[in-house]
Amino acid sequence: MTLIAQLQAAVGAAHVLTHDDPSTDLSAWEQDWRKRAHGRALAVVRPGNTAEVASVVKACAAAGASIVPQGGNTGLVVGGVPDNSGTQVLLSLTRLNRVRAIDSANLTMTVDAGCVLQNLQTTATEAGFLFPLSLAAEGSCTIGGNLATNAGGTQVLRYGNTRDLCLGLEVVTAQGEVWEGLSGLRKDNTGYDLRDLFIGSEGTLGIITAATLKLYPQPAAKLTAWAAVPSMQAAVDLLGLAQQRLAAGLTGFEVMGQFALGLVDKHFAQLRVPLWQDTPYCVLLENSDFESEAHARALFESLLETAFEQGTVTDAVVAENLTQAKGLWHIRESIPLAQAEEGLNIKHDISVPVSRIPAFCEATDAELQAAIPGMRLVNFGHLGDGNLHYNVQAPEGVDGKAFLREQEERINTLVFDAVARFDGSISAEHGVGSLKRDKLPHYKNPVALGLMRAIKAALDPKGLMNPGRVI
Ligand SMILES: Cc1cc2nc3c(=O)[nH]c(=O)nc-3n(C[C@H](O)[C@H](O)[C@H](O)COP(=O)(O)OP(=O)(O)OC[C@H]3O[C@@H](n4cnc5c(N)ncnc54)[C@H](O)[C@@H]3O)c2cc1C
Repeated sequence: MTLIAQLQAAVGAAHVLTHDDPSTDLSAWEQDWRKRAHGRALAVVRPGNTAEVASVVKACAAAGASIVPQGGNTGLVVGGVPDNSGTQVLLSLTRLNRVRAIDSANLTMTVDAGCVLQNLQTTATEAGFLFPLSLAAEGSCTIGGNLATNAGGTQVLRYGNTRDLCLGLEVVTAQGEVWEGLSGLRKDNTGYDLRDLFIGSEGTLGIITAATLKLYPQPAAKLTAWAAVPSMQAAVDLLGLAQQRLAAGLTGFEVMGQFALGLVDKHFAQLRVPLWQDTPYCVLLENSDFESEAHARALFESLLETAFEQGTVTDAVVAENLTQAKGLWHIRESIPLAQAEEGLNIKHDISVPVSRIPAFCEATDAELQAAIPGMRLVNFGHLGDGNLHYNVQAPEGVDGKAFLREQEERINTLVFDAVARFDGSISAEHGVGSLKRDKLPHYKNPVALGLMRAIKAALDPKGLMNPGRVI
């Protein structure tokens, strides 16, 4: 039997798509979200349950075919699309989309890996709970992809990364065995934490087929404020004040540079960006209150009053209702789209300790401006987590494609060297994929890299799980 015939036997012929049929368009699976890579798969295989995933992996292992797992294909580091060889099997998990169980007393839900994040948020809400993972791609990304990349998003400040929201996993190993680790335990010290190995491994160690996730109580009220701040240092000072006053109620703290907001204003004028014209940065704060809306509003007002007195805020608006709050978040989430409208750009998803962000920005902004006079900086991100999307757009009038071709390597080196000097990470939340793989040997501790290679060799000795990614 050929590999294709075995795959068809495993999942049904209708769920094995190949280029043999010229009417089948595989580009949705073969091209990444940013359209930076377009590969060619031997086949796109769409299993419907864990047993089928295991059969696919076994067949591929026996044939020596490598596997690229894929969820919603919203990843930003070219990790979930095949290479150009035409030999890789693209394993799409999106048909694994059942919510298996909700345990209200244990505050957990157990779900298939292909569930779309937004659907899980809704499931949790309908059950009277909160599943706090939230990011702009939530309408398409899957929880399996979120786990595989250890996604961050806008609520990390209070609830942590995806890793912190997961108690158990079900994984198909590189040999096609099923590890049933769907424990809902908050305490289990029986050896190495296998769950934490697979989370963030970007499909290079095994296929995540299901997860047991933490649920939280719904807050009584959520309030959002938008404030103009005179500097990045003022933004950091405001963060400190907000943490002190709101404590665990502070569930979001985003920073947005003036140029980034100007792009939203230019390309999506209907969104009406507030307060951006006369200030270098704006911040978006979210206060989740477990008492009442009135309590949340009183806390916010007192916080902003002190911030005005201290000079960390020069102007502010507090959303009057949920619609206004959603409008403010929508502006924040539209920055990447506005940036894409403006043209190609060089993206950096970096983190440095919050306390060092102002100095990092001052030094690196100046270095970039000196290296490429007129370059435009789209600086925004999850300041509460020390995570900036520190993106570089070509000078006005310069062709984006040519800019990338000629400057990307140089700019990356400049920014990553600065990140290293400030004890940061060159990938805060998007992962490594193939885009940053070659950078790791330079910026990752060599002992850590050696341990990572040893883990990869032990779990996937044939190197068939998403090869060429991460390490
Ligand atoms: C508009 C936009 C906004 C975004 N905002 C954020 C943000 O705020 N924070 C953030 O962290 N990310 C963000 N991202 C990046 C992206 O959404 C996340 O990386 C997301 O977690 C990927 O999920 P996915 O299902 O689309 O995975 P995919 O893109 O399909 O895959 C991502 C990686 O995971 C692997 N993988 C996927 N599923 C599995 C599985 N079941 N088992 C093993 N490996 C698997 C793939 O091989 C690949 O390496 C954003 C992306 C977009 C387009």
